[in-house]
Amino acid sequence: MDILKRLQEHSRNIPEQPAIVSETEQLNYRQLEEYSNALASYLTASYGKSKEPIVVYGHKNVFMIVCFLACVKAGRGYCPIDVSVPAERAAAIINEARPPVVLMPENAKFMAGESEPINLSQIQAICREGDAGPDADAWVKDGDTFYIIFTSGSSGTPKGVKISLGCLNHFLDWAVELGIPSKEKRGSTFLNQAPFSFDLSVMDLYTCLACGGTLWVMTKEMQGDYQRMFRLMEDSDVKVWVSTPSFADVCLADQKFAQKLLPSLRAFLFCGETLTNRTALQLQERFPKAVIVNTYGPTESTVALTEVKVDRELAVNENPLPVGRVKRGSAIEIWDEQGKAMPDGESGEIILMGDTVSTGYHQREELSRKSFFMCRRNDEVLRGYRTGDSGYLKNGMLYYLGRLDRQIKLHGYRIELDDIEQNLLRLDRVKNAVVTANERDEKITGLTAHIVYDRKVEDGRQEARRMKEALKEFLPEYMIPKRIRFLDSIPMTANGKVDRKMLQGAVR
Ligand code: AMP
Repeated sequence: MDILKRLQEHSRNIPEQPAIVSETEQLNYRQLEEYSNALASYLTASYGKSKEPIVVYGHKNVFMIVCFLACVKAGRGYCPIDVSVPAERAAAIINEARPPVVLMPENAKFMAGESEPINLSQIQAICREGDAGPDADAWVKDGDTFYIIFTSGSSGTPKGVKISLGCLNHFLDWAVELGIPSKEKRGSTFLNQAPFSFDLSVMDLYTCLACGGTLWVMTKEMQGDYQRMFRLMEDSDVKVWVSTPSFADVCLADQKFAQKLLPSLRAFLFCGETLTNRTALQLQERFPKAVIVNTYGPTESTVALTEVKVDRELAVNENPLPVGRVKRGSAIEIWDEQGKAMPDGESGEIILMGDTVSTGYHQREELSRKSFFMCRRNDEVLRGYRTGDSGYLKNGMLYYLGRLDRQIKLHGYRIELDDIEQNLLRLDRVKNAVVTANERDEKITGLTAHIVYDRKVEDGRQEARRMKEALKEFLPEYMIPKRIRFLDSIPMTANGKVDRKMLQGAVR
């Protein structure tokens, strides 16, 4: 598959088919093509031919997609930043990405730093001027970066995962067949729930565009008001649902969330965190016409690379559910600590290899060397990635057991606990900080920060409120611990390490 060529075909064959639909606006395939071409021409004329990435800052405006495509047609990767990322953190990302320009297809307040900002009205004016656009020779090539997605990093600043056009195309060859065959997806409506700065959104955005479908985007605001969200969903005609299991759980809490609300729905595609048997069973009951697919993978291997259809038999008999079999073009091995491949059924680190593995972290050579490698399998040289996930294989089926480090998933968001701790230490008076995850029924439900101050705390509640407010400058909402405890000192184990178990136990 060549996604950019495919879009060119759609603009000729199905020009009037809506490609992106939001509550207030929509773009069809002809507009998507013409606008992205015009903007690509402008970018090349103004900033020259270079592979430096371009930052696209915004939320769910339909012009976000125009900007993404314009960047890659101008031969540059794009780096999406959602408006929910605080200014400090966005500035850190921009500092790493060093874009010549920041496209802002949303009327958001934002400091572009040294880079030149282009706002929505400027973007729209450029798009409507209608230049023919650079020819295909100028577009990003197979090995070039298509997008860079920044994800939580243990050092306290996010790290950018580079995904090439080749990785995306290989992912799409597989993803278009997930759940229901690609020909049944043609012209269908896909749900977009995740912000475009999370790689889960790649599963809905590009799979939908590859199938000539309509992407139905849901803003954060819509997701914050369920009654309104369900009312809008009723008219959406969504056939392919892509979200984290957490979001499906939130919807399931309302009895209205059933086939009657979404009569066209045929497939649930999940990724990013554990799909529980309970969620799968509830969905099967409420949506008898839909298949449920569990997929697994990190941003570093282009969204996902394993799949399993979760039917009733599997949901009743296998607990926890498997995460699937690996796609063609990829391979999975389980390694012990010495890097030795483990036999079937034995657990260790999940190692991914193949045609969707990232080319590394942007501007982070050392970090990239730790996690990425090249290897030879069956006379083929493959890129490989050490996931830090623990799991095992059984007859080709992958089972996920959890993390080997301090990365967690909270409501579908990937978070390094070290990242939060590093940012807590930036606040005044904080001498020491440890963050632990609160768990209920083996699911992470929230975060607690254990803090040592440089002086006695008079009013813990007030201080906690003050700290949360101060943290908003550095961290997105979902990374701010709900609970903050003040301690005189952090408990240590006999061998001098932070006693996280004890801290975690103290919260229950
Ligand atoms: P992200 O890069 O945000 O997609 O997060 C990747 C991590 O999410 C993986 O390394 C796993 O720890 C976790 N993950 C992804 N898919 C699944 C799944 N189907 N079940 C359980 N955990 C998952």
